[in-house]
Formats: sequence, structure tokens, C-alpha cells
Amino acid sequence: LSDRLSGVFDRLTKQGALSEDDVKTALREVRVALLEADVSLPVARDFIKKVQEQATGQSVTKSVTPGQQVVKIVHDALIEVLTGEGEPGALKIDNPPAPILMVGLQGGGKTTTTAKLAKRLKEKDGKRVLMASLDVYRPAAMDQLAILGTQVGVDTLPIVPGQKPVDIAKRAKQQATMGGYDVYMLDTAGRLHIDEVLMDEVEQVSKVVTPRETLLVVDGLTGQVAVEVAQEFDDKVGISGVVLTRMDGDGRGGAALSMRAVTGKPIRYVGLGEKMDALETFEPERIAGRILGMGDIVSLVEKAQETIEAEQAERMMKRFQKGQFNMNDLKMQLEQMIKMGGMQGVMGMMPGMGKMAKQAEAAGMDDKVLKQQIALIQSMTKRERANPQILQASRKKRIAKGAGLEVSELNKLLKMQRQMGDMMKKMGKMGKGKMLKQAMK
Ligand code: GDP
Ligand code: MG
Repeated sequence: LSDRLSGVFDRLTKQGALSEDDVKTALREVRVALLEADVSLPVARDFIKKVQEQATGQSVTKSVTPGQQVVKIVHDALIEVLTGEGEPGALKIDNPPAPILMVGLQGGGKTTTTAKLAKRLKEKDGKRVLMASLDVYRPAAMDQLAILGTQVGVDTLPIVPGQKPVDIAKRAKQQATMGGYDVYMLDTAGRLHIDEVLMDEVEQVSKVVTPRETLLVVDGLTGQVAVEVAQEFDDKVGISGVVLTRMDGDGRGGAALSMRAVTGKPIRYVGLGEKMDALETFEPERIAGRILGMGDIVSLVEKAQETIEAEQAERMMKRFQKGQFNMNDLKMQLEQMIKMGGMQGVMGMMPGMGKMAKQAEAAGMDDKVLKQQIALIQSMTKRERANPQILQASRKKRIAKGAGLEVSELNKLLKMQRQMGDMMKKMGKMGKGKMLKQAMK
């Protein structure tokens, strides 16, 4: 794939803003990458469409090609889709004993994941965990969980032959309550395919225990099938999260994207092997890199962007040190403030400006005021912006009128520009630029 993409990059070498054609050409290859990673067709199509709208017109960072820039945009968009609410590994398991229901098809890795997760909850969170197998169909299944339990040092519910899944679930609940467990995990039976009997059974169990978490365990290598399974289970019993297993395999993990796009459920963990410690919290960055398979391009673009930002900061700093802080600079600062959540956000981070931020807030400097100030600056000519000291009464009147505001407002703005200029100059001398760079990050 990289070869194919570099071909695209060669063709797209002009700088500036991304044209619709640049984006389309690059996205054609990205689309292939997604499909090769086993992302389902409709999901890939929607995703590409979204990115296309987002990317067109964006500016291209110096020293990278438009194609590379598109890959970075795609990468960031992937992470956005993959990221679910809350911390990936955080489960709702307060109010002991908290039931966790494990569901999924046969062979997906439920029993293995139940034991892995129990181990993790015990060791990382210090929880007392009880596990119970509800798989009454395969005689070896209950033993399998019991053996794993011994291996990881987690209790399992004693096996009573001939009991129905619902009754085992009730017994587990009782035992967990009496035994003072924090969590009890129910490992349900799977089928090769979704069927009514399986679903009814899971539904009944779910009603009996009202699980705090219903985790769907699916084989991450099965791609499209995994997504259908997720949809079915979510419709019938409602799932709270997903565990993708076999992510140690060669698969590119496209199921993760389809899963998120289709069900909207958070992916909590990934299984990375058969061993009991091969369970990790889901990391969107890692999977995004894997789906796209272009990690080197992404870091290249990030590096280029960082360099540019550092250069810009350096240039600004040099000017501030010389006491050059004009209306263009102020406008940039004001825009930055709006972007970063108002006065408090930005100035609070600059050394020595915390007090000024508080004053500004007390004076009612909210977004509306910031926007009015930007309007005032926009109403100035180029020359006035660069040399605000030339503003006398008639110019002031014209500018204020142009922005639909009073001259007194403009005077406040001018005072602010002078004060900030002085402050910048002092800071520049004091910290030789380090501080401001820090503050602008
Ligand atoms: P269940 O039928 O859903 O309970 O599935 P099992 O837990 O019995 O797992 C079926 C097989 O998949 C077992 O051989 C497991 O060792 C294996 N397995 C489970 N999770 C993973 C994983 O993350 N990676 C790999 N490589 N194998 C796994
Ligand atoms: Mg099993």
C-alpha cells in the first residue's frame, strides 16, 4: 500500500490549500486501505465522505505533500470515531456485588476473556471477583473456567450438574452477595450462529441479574461478521461495551471501526493472545495506525506541524522582544482566546497574566466582547493595524462606526494593546522566549 500511496504523493506535490482533486485522489487509496483492513463497505464509504468534506480547503503544512496531509487528517478522523465515551478500561462496577455478563458467539473468546478480565480486576483494581460458567451445553466448558480460575487465583462458583443457566445465575448472585464479592462475572454459552434459543437464554439471565456491564466478546478477525453479531446482541439484550479478541493476529483491525460506527458502543479491551495477561485497554491511536497502515506518514506530518508552530512562535517572540506588538498580533491573540475558551483559558497560562485575566473577567470580557474587539481591528486599515499609534480622533470615529461600536470601546482596545505589548516585551527579556513558547503550546 505504501508504494501505491507514494505514487499518489508524487503526483500531488503542490503546496497551499488542499484542492478537491488532491483530496479525492488521496482518499481513493485510503479507501482501499480501509477495505483491506476489513472495514465494512458502507462504513468506509461514510467515513471517506466525512473526511472529504473536512479535508477540502484545509491548508497543507510546509514540507509535506497534500497526500501526506490527507493521510494525517484521515488518521485523526479515525481516532475520533474509534474513541468511545469514558476511559476505555473503566467498567461500572460500583455497588457490590456488580454483575458482569459476558456474551458472544462460540469460540469468540468469552471464557478466556472472562478469566483475563477477572485477573485484571483482582490485580489492578483490588476487586474480589467470583466467576460462574452458564455454559451447560458443553461439559468441558465449566471445567475450562474452573481451571482458568485456579490459574489466575479467582474463585469460581461450584459446579452443580443439571442446573439451568438462569438458576446458575441466581445461585451466582446469591453466592456473590453472601460471600462479600465486589463483582461476579457470568460466562454465557455461545452458538456458532445467532439463534433464538441462545438469545432467549441470554435475555432471561440478563433479566434475573440486571448486569451493570454486558460485554460482547467478538473475534476481531471476523470483520463484518463481528459487526452483525454486535448489532444482533445489542438489539436483543443491549450491550454496554465490546471486547475485541485475537488482535494479536494479522488482521488490520477494521472491525473496530465498523463496530464503533454501527453500534456506537465503546470498545473497552482488546485480547492480544491466549495467555491470561494478554488483555489490554483499547487504544484508539494504536488501532487507527494499524487500520491505516501508514504510521510513518502520520508521524512525519506531525513532526512538520510541530516545526512550523515552533518557527512561528520563535518569529513572534523576536518581534515581541523588540516591543513590536501591533493590532495584527492582538487580533491573533483574541482569536486564540476564543478558540481556547475565553480570557481565562489563555492568559491564565501565561506567567504574570493570571491577574489580568481575572480583571478582564470581572470587566465582563466574554466571547462577545472578544468578537467586538476583533470587529474593531477588522475595521482598521492595514497601515493602522501595523501602527496603531497613528490613530487620531477622525480615524477612531471611522473605525468605531465601521464596527458598529463606540469610540470608548476602541480606546479600551488600544489601551489593552499597549498594556499587552509592554507585558510581552518584559516577558521576552525575562525569559528569552522560553516562557511565551511554553504558554503558546
Ligand atoms: P468461547 O467459546 O467464546 O468461550 O471462547 P474461548 O474463550 O474458549 O476461546 C476460544 C479459543 O480462542 C481458545 O483457544 C483461546 O485460547 C483463544 N483465544 C481467546 N482470546 C484470544 C486472543 O485474544 N488471542 C488469541 N490468539 N487467541 C485467543
Ligand atoms: Mg466458553
